Order: sequence, then C-alpha cells, then structure tokens
Amino acid sequence: MYFVANWKMYGNLSSLNTLNKVIKFSKSKAINKGRLIYCPPNTLISPLSKKFSNCQIAIGAQNCHENESYGPFTGFVNCKMLKNIGAQFVIVGHSENRKKGENDKLINLKIKSALKAKLKVIFCIGETLVEKRKKKTKSILSNQIKIGLKKVKNKSKIFIAYEPVWAIGTGIIPSSNDLIKTVQFIKSKFKKKFPKILYGGSVNPKNIKNLKEIDNIDGFLIGGASQNANKFIDIVKKTYS
Ligand code: PEP
Repeated sequence: MYFVANWKMYGNLSSLNTLNKVIKFSKSKAINKGRLIYCPPNTLISPLSKKFSNCQIAIGAQNCHENESYGPFTGFVNCKMLKNIGAQFVIVGHSENRKKGENDKLINLKIKSALKAKLKVIFCIGETLVEKRKKKTKSILSNQIKIGLKKVKNKSKIFIAYEPVWAIGTGIIPSSNDLIKTVQFIKSKFKKKFPKILYGGSVNPKNIKNLKEIDNIDGFLIGGASQNANKFIDIVKKTYS
C-alpha cells in the first residue's frame, strides 16, 4: 500500500523535525510493505531529500509547470527542476488547482512532461458535489481520464488518485458501496494493466478502518491528517492491524 502525504501550502524548515518519528517508524516492522511518499511545498523538497537520505521515504512535488525545458515562466518550476532537487513523484490535477483554472488538456501536458523527466505521477481525478448530485460522476471521471492520459504510454508510472472534491477537507467520505463501484469503474477504463489507484479525501485514523477494506485500492492520498506525524503513522499502522 502507498501512503502519500500532501502537505499543501503548510510547513517550514522547523516542521521537518516532526518527521523524525516518521523516519523511525518507516524502519520498523509495523509498516509492513507500506510505501511512504511525502509531498511538501517546493521550498522543503531539497532539505527533505537530505533528511530522508538514509530511509526509504520518497518525495513528491505538489504540482509542476508543463514545459519540459527552462523558459520565461516567472514563479514556476518544471519537472526537470523538481527531479534535480530530489523529487521522485509529482501530484498533477489536484482539485485545488483545477479550481484555479487547470483544465484536462493542461494536465495532460503536465503528465507527459513529468514522465519525460522520469517522475512518477499522482494524477488526481474527482467529481464535485453538484456533479455527483446530477449523477455525472462516471462521465466526469471518464473525461478526466481520457483527456488527462491522452497519448500517455507508460501507465505503469501513473497513480490515479480518486479524490471526490466534496470529500477533500470536509470530514465526509464516500459510502463503501459508492467507493467500491467508482474504483471498479476507474479500473474498467484500462484494458490490460491499470495504474495503481489511490483514494483521497478526509482520510483519518478513524475512517481508515473502513477505507482499508475497499477492494482494489492501492493506497491513500492524505492531506490534513498528514500534517500531524502521529496521525499519519496511526493511519499506516491501522491499515495493517
Ligand atoms: C488532498 O488535498 O489531497 C486531501 C486528500 O486532503 P484531505 O485529506 O485534507 O481531505
């Protein structure tokens, strides 16, 4: 199982001290075969990569510019730059960025440039509450997958994170039935080998007991709860208990 911590726009150099216990935990048996991936803000990727140099925890960025090469794009960084400072993964298509105008075509370009830079991609998809109420979940997800992964060959480097927008940061999660059906639906979009599938949206140490029972989920994308090392460790431990 994969456990991806999305720190969003939180954290500074002193926050990295809280990860000492996560490093210790990552070397213990309690983690079983779990794989931890931390996605801090870009400002912390380099110091974090030094901190994690003696453990197996991977690092990801939270977004990237779509351009493969350098260019006059003030305030942005591309995947080559992220790779250079220690990122192995990048989150693409997060709903907080879609809300700010990122569309599926742009997300497709970002995915391609990430793969070119040899980053693995955590590709977020999900419907809004209005879309869910209008029973449009399947068509929204289909479109996001179809356009987002257009002409993307190497699906083994892609993780799809199903994150219903209405579940992010709200404390509400989908019913087990809905989640099972949606994960099955996502898998049905891929012919042979499908990408790994993560669930994200209000995962916490309480609801993980139900979430871990959902078939075909390869892991979790964890926002708010990942900013607290104890909660994050608890989520991993409870997945295996
Ligand atoms: C996220 O931002 O990807 C996320 C899942 O957030 P939260 O866990 O806080 O809902």
